[in-house]
Amino acid sequence: MTREKSAHLYEEALKLMPAGVNSPVRAFRAVNDIPFFVQRAKGAYLFDVDGNTYLDYVASWGAIILGHAHDGLVREAQAAVADGTSYGACHPYEVKLAQLLIDAFPSMEKVRLTSSGTEATMSAIRLARGATGKDGIIKFRGCYHGHADSLLVKAGSGLETYGIPDSAGVPADLARHTFVAEFNHLDSVRSIIDRNKDIACVIVEPIMGNMGVILPREGFLKSLEELCKTAGILLIFDEVITGFRVTYGGAQHLYGVDPDLTCLGKIIGGGFPIGAFGGKAVIMDHVAPLGAVYQAGTLSGNPVAVRAGLYALGQLKAENPYRAMKEKVEYLGREVLEIAARHNVAYRVNGATGMFTGFFIDKDVTDYESASQAGREPYARFFRMMLEEGIFFAPSPFEAAFLTLDHTELEIGKTISAFERVFRRFGARDER
Ligand SMILES: *Cc1c(COP(=O)(O)O)cnc(C)c1O
Repeated sequence: MTREKSAHLYEEALKLMPAGVNSPVRAFRAVNDIPFFVQRAKGAYLFDVDGNTYLDYVASWGAIILGHAHDGLVREAQAAVADGTSYGACHPYEVKLAQLLIDAFPSMEKVRLTSSGTEATMSAIRLARGATGKDGIIKFRGCYHGHADSLLVKAGSGLETYGIPDSAGVPADLARHTFVAEFNHLDSVRSIIDRNKDIACVIVEPIMGNMGVILPREGFLKSLEELCKTAGILLIFDEVITGFRVTYGGAQHLYGVDPDLTCLGKIIGGGFPIGAFGGKAVIMDHVAPLGAVYQAGTLSGNPVAVRAGLYALGQLKAENPYRAMKEKVEYLGREVLEIAARHNVAYRVNGATGMFTGFFIDKDVTDYESASQAGREPYARFFRMMLEEGIFFAPSPFEAAFLTLDHTELEIGKTISAFERVFRRFGARDER
């Protein structure tokens, strides 16, 4: 496999964009490689500028679920474009999408569309602060909610309970209003709440996808809901990944939780830029122009994104592919673990419907602490070997792999064969 044209493009890109990319992880730095450049995509595959084909487990970070360039979605998007690409005015499709989202998520009585997941979480946080009159927020270590200031915060060291900036340019004065708790450890939330009366909300990925896939422990989300309710703190579910991936209606449907606010994105735009936040009417009515919490967007509710999203969600509702996607992930996970064991590769797989992560580690991954102990160097080798096999996993060890409806038994079979060849070489190297 040669990647000459990609290498040339990357050289050009490096002069023109920071690290040559428009989003950091695309630079392949965590896997000591340089990126390939995509010419086009179809179904479960990406085709690069050098003529290489990759079976795609990134799927635009989960935004693609029907498969790339799905025929029906392409037709709908083309029709939408022909009707005008943006109006800056109301249109019927946004009403339809709002209705669809509210029907799918009973916890939401009203919803507003944005252009990205970052905008959705940023707006939900502002709304929670505005509606409660409190400034503090709680997030979980390792959860990612986009790149808004209040959310680019990490735990302070030692006895400091408040957060410190996780990016240059985030004011420490703002970061100290963000408290960082441990996913799957309710006590960590309780101890923050006990010491701080100024908490507006808790925001959580109900199934973690951004530290690799980490499932909530039995009862964790329900207890979190109860804790929030008792303390008068709003609970925000960030379902930007899980929304229509783990089932129609998201993780909140699976776990029977009724969050105050929900954030959506990725899948709901059918591969176009979109986000959404919604929740109880009494809270949502604080949003301008009804209420005092300002939020807006020139391209919000963009007709092309909305019509593509309506199409994608319509297909998911009609086809109900979730059971099949769950079984595929379970089957792949079982086979891969068996291969790893046979070749003495310390490996664990965490899976949810339509998404999974393999960790190079010899113990179960149940929280941030255990995930962060997973091997980075072995992952980097694994990534490069898989790419040579024509399989594209995320260029970072702490990400999810995503299935589309076009990941059929054939693709799963190819993946398993590639694991066999790659892990065999892993085992051989360790013996030397
Ligand atoms: C991707 C993601 C976001 C941010 O969405 P963007 O569209 O990239 O701004 C927020 N939350 C979660 C859980 C995500 O995975």
